Order: sequence, then C-alpha cells, then structure tokens
Amino acid sequence: MLRLRNVNSFYGNIQVLKNINVEISRGEIITLIGANGAGKTTTLMTISGIVPARSGEVLFMEKPIHNMRPDIIVSLGISQVPEGRRIFPYLTVSENLDMGAFLRTDSENIKKDMEYIFELFPILGQRRNQPGKTLSGGEQQMLAISRAIMARPKLLLLDEPSLGLAPLIVKQLFEIIKKINIENQTTIFLVEQNANLALKVAHRGYVMENGRITLSDSAENLFSNENVKKAYLGL
Ligand code: ATP
Repeated sequence: MLRLRNVNSFYGNIQVLKNINVEISRGEIITLIGANGAGKTTTLMTISGIVPARSGEVLFMEKPIHNMRPDIIVSLGISQVPEGRRIFPYLTVSENLDMGAFLRTDSENIKKDMEYIFELFPILGQRRNQPGKTLSGGEQQMLAISRAIMARPKLLLLDEPSLGLAPLIVKQLFEIIKKINIENQTTIFLVEQNANLALKVAHRGYVMENGRITLSDSAENLFSNENVKKAYLGL
C-alpha cells in the first residue's frame, strides 16, 4: 500500500531523514519506534506531503505522491493524526468530526460514520455538543483519531497517540486502534515512543535512529531483540 524508497527530507539545510525505506502492506499495523528527535514525526509529515521529500519516492498504491499537495494526499486516502491532538478547540465534537469529512460529499454515509464513531467512543456521543477544548486529554485524543477516521482513510498515520495520557486510557485507546484496523480494514502506521505498547499491537516494526532506519522485523522479533530491549523497552 505504501512504499518509501530512499527518501531524504530536510528542514532548510538540515537533513533529517536519510535514505529511508519503509513498506506497508494493506491491513497491517506497522510501528515506527525511536528516541526523541530521531525523525519519526518527520517521516509522517513526509508521507502527508507537509515536509516534502527532497529526493527519493513515496508511492501510495503504486502511485507517486511525493510531489503532491497535502490536501490531494488526504483525498487519496491518507489521514494523519498529529502529535498533541490539535483538535479545533472552539468547535463542538460534532463539528470537529464534520471537519474530518470536509472532502466528502456522501452526506448519508457521513451521518452513518458519525454514528459509528459514537459507538466506538460513547463518551464522544455524550459530549457531541460540547466545544473540543472542554474535553479531557484522552477524550481529545479520541476525537483527533475519530476526526481522521471521518475522512475514511485507507491509511491512518498516528503520531504518538499515547503521549501524556493515563495508562488506563492508553490501554483503551490501543484496543480501539486494533478494532479500527480489524473492523474497517484500515492500515495503520503508528509512531510511538512507548515501544512496549506499540510492539504489542503492531504486526511489524521499524526502528529509527538519527534519521536512519536501523532495524526492521516482525513485532515479535523486535520485542525479543536485545538491543531493542535495552534501548526502548527499559528491560
Ligand atoms: P519526538 O519523538 O521528540 O517527536 P521525532 O522522532 O518525531 O521526535 P522529529 O520531530 O521528526 O523527531 O524531529 C527530527 C529532527 O528534526 C529533530 O532534530 C528536530 O529538532 C528537527 N525538526 C523537527 N521539526 C523541525 C522544524 N520545523 N524545523 C527545523 N527542525 C525541525
């Protein structure tokens, strides 16, 4: 579904991504783990077209997307949930969800999808008329993910969904991430510093260090890899 081939990305003169190669197949949950500043967010931004690759290729369903505008990339079926949630604070929960469906015209299905979201996250249904900023951190993360789902993405990019949330909320959130993957057959690319959790839900994973992919394997093998254990699992 997605292929990054020898991708290099920069902020000005500073090179952040160095010859990145990543492959994601339909239906997979793939995680990208790494330390602070390794380049994980930049990888997602490059896929979304926000930080365009300076060289290399990003192919989505065999189609080159590395020269496309972010809104065109969304319309092809890639939605990103940014780190730190970034919902619209003054719009209500329902209005935030409507914004996720901004590029869609099938109003009947949009309604159905909103009902599906309220089944997935009943708390959002109860809070549907409240401004986003009045939600708790965990509820805002649920809303941010839900807003992305409202675009009916084929590929969902999640940037640090666990950040700043209580362990119980994180556990619930990851259950839902698995559910979205299975029920909607949404392919998921999950960036996480919480490698423990990420490797529990993912099928495969990549490890990133200083802008390079240094390891790629099944989640199971990464979990038992001595270097990964020491560097990322605190074991
Ligand atoms: P974290 O887990 O802390 O979010 P990350 O692995 O997602 O880290 P990135 O956010 O991709 O890492 O950052 C990679 C490098 O690029 C860092 O050195 C960071 O300081 C730098 N960087 C990120 N955004 C910008 C920007 N807008 N302008 C200049 N440098 C940036």
